[in-house]
Amino acid sequence: MSSLVFLDPAYPAGRLADISAPQLPVTLQGVNRGDGVFESMLYTQQTVRKFEAHLARLAISAETSDLPIPDERSWRAAVDTAVADFDATGGAEEAVVKLVAMRGELDHDPAVCWVTVSPAPRIGMEQRETGVDVLFLDRGYDSMLAERAPWLLMGAKTLSYAVNMAALRYARKHGAHEVIFTSADGVVLEAPTATVLLAQRDGDTRRLLTPMLETGILPGTTQSAIFDAARQDGWELGYGPLRPEDLYQADGVWLVSSVRLLTPVRTLDAKPIRMDAELHAQLSALADSIR
Ligand code: PLP
Repeated sequence: MSSLVFLDPAYPAGRLADISAPQLPVTLQGVNRGDGVFESMLYTQQTVRKFEAHLARLAISAETSDLPIPDERSWRAAVDTAVADFDATGGAEEAVVKLVAMRGELDHDPAVCWVTVSPAPRIGMEQRETGVDVLFLDRGYDSMLAERAPWLLMGAKTLSYAVNMAALRYARKHGAHEVIFTSADGVVLEAPTATVLLAQRDGDTRRLLTPMLETGILPGTTQSAIFDAARQDGWELGYGPLRPEDLYQADGVWLVSSVRLLTPVRTLDAKPIRMDAELHAQLSALADSIR
């Protein structure tokens, strides 16, 4: 069973609600326009992983969207209530804790905010082992657009994921599992719900690279935590611009995200990607150690 808790000033610990019953007025701008922000976190072994980093990114996304949201204490209280209810009703080995804040009916109405906890999809856990086949898809804008056009909210985690989901459906209709977006000027961006990582081995040097944030991609909390752990483990770190040929020449390419952790890329546009088994094992251990 999944759990639902609304943030509500009348209920300091959050207001438990029935996730299978209708809950939202259809007049909310969040509902009509996808005008809102969210976070997805992994809950496992009684811990919400990287809670602090997700709360920080939620606050930045909300501020970028001019959407006032409740303070951290209210979110933490609602999450505590939601995971306690989830565990009491059966729980799961791995669960997704989702934080949502959306604009109300009128601009000055308080944001409508809630937390859900639900079992993590099995497919993501399976793909950590099997890997994924990926298509490069054109995102249709150049890699410098974010700087020129702050109103596009690039780099914020907004609710408007219809394009991301459409790209995944396109990939599945064409025999792949996943997508890596490229910019109109041929720079590697991100996956619809994950950050791209690549590794290079150069003698004794192990190097980890990821696309640069200036391209307008979402700053990934998993990529950031893996970089922190890798730095301590002696890896060299770097940020793009990356091009498709960098991925073809790498010793491993992964999609990383909070719920799915580290997913190896098997093929890109049907061409095989090298996967250094030792580097994969090392990065998997780093990803598993993130708290
Ligand atoms: N990029 C996009 C577009 C995402 O939606 C996500 C996560 O959902 C990520 C990257 C990875 O972010 P994180 O590692 O913080 O989950």
